Amino acid sequence: MLVFASEDHRAHNPTELHLFAGEALPPKEVPARAETILGALKAAGLADVREPDPLDSDPSARDLLSRVHDAAYLEFLRTAHQRWCALTGNDGGGEAMPFVRPILGPGFTVPDHVLAELGRYSNDADPLLAGTWQAATSAATCAIGAARTVVSGDAGAAYALARPPGHHAGPDNFGGYCYLNNSAIAAELVTATGGRAATLDVDTHAGNGTQAVFWHRRDVLSVSLHIDPSVEYPYFQGYPAERGAGDGEGFNHNLTMGRRTQWPGYEPVLDQACRLVDDFGPDVVVVALGVDTAVEDGVLALEGDDYLRLGERLARLGRPTVLVQEGGYDLRVLGRNVAAVIEGFAQAR
Ligand SMILES: [Zn+2]
Repeated sequence: MLVFASEDHRAHNPTELHLFAGEALPPKEVPARAETILGALKAAGLADVREPDPLDSDPSARDLLSRVHDAAYLEFLRTAHQRWCALTGNDGGGEAMPFVRPILGPGFTVPDHVLAELGRYSNDADPLLAGTWQAATSAATCAIGAARTVVSGDAGAAYALARPPGHHAGPDNFGGYCYLNNSAIAAELVTATGGRAATLDVDTHAGNGTQAVFWHRRDVLSVSLHIDPSVEYPYFQGYPAERGAGDGEGFNHNLTMGRRTQWPGYEPVLDQACRLVDDFGPDVVVVALGVDTAVEDGVLALEGDDYLRLGERLARLGRPTVLVQEGGYDLRVLGRNVAAVIEGFAQAR
């Protein structure tokens, strides 16, 4: 499998404790995630590794970012940490954490103040670090590299080792460890070259950012299968009644399942999602490949060979496929589970 990976992800290395449901915990979205995945892919002989072109030397990649995200949001992401350091006197090593929230209701002004903008552009409590922009853009370029390879026909499938992940990032907001929506950027590349794309999000959480990006569009089908959001992040979106609007009505699908669902309950939902993709008939499928469905991650309950079967089912779609890494946080099983999906996919092709 062609694997697009960059060492620049290491520039985003949060270490400060995060408050989660009243408990201060170490961050889970850390550089070791990408390193353990790459190690497992190499050990299994599944990785033909490519370095993506850097964003600075790739105007068409910058254009793709602008098609998915608002210009003001991109400028905020690029500059906010520096502005926060100037405001607070931080030496550059600190983590800028949102702590105010937009006030719902009439009247909404976002002043030119970095603390207000941190609240405006975030949808939970992820930090911006000095290296967040560098890491997030490297993840996006990995997705772009993989998508270009598939769209050009050079490979039938490619995998982007994208870190930080992306599927919770909307056109103008970050959250759920996500800053730039790597999967949406890959799908956008397909449409920018005249094709139709389907995003198939198998992460344990709703792909709410991807849904928001393509909400009004029918050239991209968005399908996400995930834990019922009434009991898990992202809580406010990801429900079956959300089906897109305007031209995009009927082109967004949320398929939900209960906590601790195991493979026998998961497989029919996956199958339903795959049939929706089949019916749409995309030129390229973009798989938002979260493996935080693992029982060790504590939400759903897939394990072991379930990931081989997941890879086989994705391969049986029989379409050019871009696999983009999303969640998966238990370092004991993360690499093994991603490698199993890639192996199952490769064997079934
Ligand atoms: Zn997730």
